[in-house]
Formats: sequence, structure tokens, C-alpha cells
Amino acid sequence: MNSDASLSNLIPAPSLRLSFDAGALADNWRAMDRLSGSAVAGAAVKADGYGTGVERVMPVLLDAGARYFFVAHWSEVPEVIAHADAHGISVLHGPMTEADTRFALASGVRPVINSMAQAVRWGAAGGGACDLMVDTGMNRLGVRPEELADPAIRALDIEVLMSHLACADEDSAMNARQCAAFREVTAMIPHRRASLANSAGIALGSDYHFDLTRPGLALYGGTARAEAEGLVRQVITPEAAIIQIHDLPAGESIGYGATFTAPHDMRVAILSLGYADGYLRCWSGEGIFTAADGAQLPVLGRVSMDMTAVDVTAVPHLREGDWLRAQYDLAQASQATGLTQYELLTLSGPRLRG
Ligand SMILES: *Cc1c(COP(=O)(O)O)cnc(C)c1O
Repeated sequence: MNSDASLSNLIPAPSLRLSFDAGALADNWRAMDRLSGSAVAGAAVKADGYGTGVERVMPVLLDAGARYFFVAHWSEVPEVIAHADAHGISVLHGPMTEADTRFALASGVRPVINSMAQAVRWGAAGGGACDLMVDTGMNRLGVRPEELADPAIRALDIEVLMSHLACADEDSAMNARQCAAFREVTAMIPHRRASLANSAGIALGSDYHFDLTRPGLALYGGTARAEAEGLVRQVITPEAAIIQIHDLPAGESIGYGATFTAPHDMRVAILSLGYADGYLRCWSGEGIFTAADGAQLPVLGRVSMDMTAVDVTAVPHLREGDWLRAQYDLAQASQATGLTQYELLTLSGPRLRG
């Protein structure tokens, strides 16, 4: 076994990458902040910045002006706190154990209290500023409005009073119902800021904005509602190098299951990107890659774990080592695959994120 640390300096450059447009991310946050009207926009950076890489996302969002950040897990705090002020970080899952409360107190980040048990746990630990999630109809996490009178809740020092919309990306009567229920809640308990809207909620209009909004998807280029179309730009694109180019004679098939047979003599390029990287098998025979000159190269046969084949017959100048970009416009890719824009973002694998 070679444990020589210097080996890590010799690791060759990877043959796949997730291209990242920092300018688009910054513009998307500013667009959401503007669309939030008099409310200020925070940023959901959970799940490694929706799969785009929280390490590179944080400096960009801070620079754009974001000050409030939301993660789901306590384990996600270190990467965020490395950049941002602890007082601007909220942990959505809240304190589930004593270890969670100890970590919250030591780090200074705020737990989002989601249940009576969490309120009691936070109070018993000495508490301090926290956020409170009130359930106005989603029935996921949150205390119920009728529980707000409980002494354990009254004792909380609430920074952000929040609720979450179940159907903000749809034209559902539930949106107005939840908005009205949340407005009542804001009158029931003292708090410093109220927050209801995610990306789609922001697009629902000023009634939904309150003091602080919590966009996630839109920051990373997703469009949650038609009203927000054209407001955000694509942030990430999977790219892969060609690791081999070879002939595919007429009548021969390619890949697992031999699902594609060449109708004529072809040239194929094998790309260093597969479903383990998040380029899922649903792109088999469906996906398109783009060459530097704009040529469109269809995926041939099934996507493998580490490789994908594309048709390069029409582009004889391509060489091994050249890079191709996947067509990965989130709205179009969602239409094509049946996956949500959220899934398309967060499924990028560790080799691709780099
Ligand atoms: C993830 C999350 C958000 C962000 O939602 P988007 O739809 O990605 O904008 C906001 N609030 C809560 C509570 C969340 O869990």
C-alpha cells in the first residue's frame, strides 16, 4: 500500500466536470432578491448547494449580498459557517438530539424548532435565539398553530417565524389558504422576521413575501413557476472528455443490452460520464451533447455507470481529449426525463462535482 501523501499531488486532472457559472448564480440571487420586493432574500444551500457544490456557491452568494442561509442537516453547517456569520445560518431539521443542541450552542447557528419536543429540548438546553416552523397545511415538519399557546413555545426567542408552501409551483387554492393561515400565525407569537416563500412562492407575489424569502431552486437556475421564466440563468452544466473515438460498422450494436444498431457506418465517441455521476439511464438514446463548435451529438444506446457513447459521424475533427457539454437546460431536461428540476440538480455525483 502506498500512503505517500505526495501521490495526491500527482492525481491527473479529471475527465469530467460540472461547469459552474458564478455570474449566473449571483445574478439569480439578485433577481430573487429584487422579486422579493421589500423582503430580503436568503438562500437555501442544503444538499451541497443543490448539488452544485456549496464550497463554491457560498462566496458567490455572500458577494452578491445574501446573509441568511438554510441547510437541512447539522452536518452541513461546517461548510457554510466557513464562509458566513453563524447568526445567519438556520438548520431546518432542528435539534433532534442533545448532541444537536450542544452543536447549535457551540456554533451559534440557529435551529429551526419543528415540534413541541424540539421546543422543550431547546428550552432545557438553555435555548437562545431560534427559528420556529409552523405547519400551515403541508404536514411535514412544524408545530401546529393551536400549539403556539404552549408555554414551551411562548418561552422561545424567535428570530425567524416560518412556514412552508406545499403547492407554490402550482395554481392551487392551497397557496392562498396557507398564506392567510401564516398571516394569522404572525399575529399570534412574537418574532423578529417572518418567512414563507421558497422560489415558487416568491413568484406568487408580494402577499407571500413577508420579511425574508428562502429561494433555493431559482438560485441554481431552476424555474419553479411560469412567472419566473426568463429571470434566471443556467448555473451548472455537466461536461465530459472524450476518452475514445472509434468506428461503429453498419449492423453492429453498441452498449449494454445492444439497444442501438448502426444503420450505416458511424463514428462514435465514448465520454467519461455515466449514471454514477448523475447522468442517468433515462438519457439513453435521448440525450444530446454539444461540441465546442455547436455540433449536436446524440447519445447512442444505454448510458453506462462511467461512460456514455455519442454519435460523432458528422464531426470528423473531434479528437480524444476534446470536451463535450451535456444539454442540461433544467426545464427542458425535466420535460425530457420526467425528473424534477430539483432532482436533476441534486443527483450530480461526487466525481462530477469534483
Ligand atoms: C428547500 C427549502 C426551501 C427552498 O425551496 P426551493 O423550492 O428550492 O426554492 C425553502 N424553505 C424550506 C423550508 C426548504 O426546505
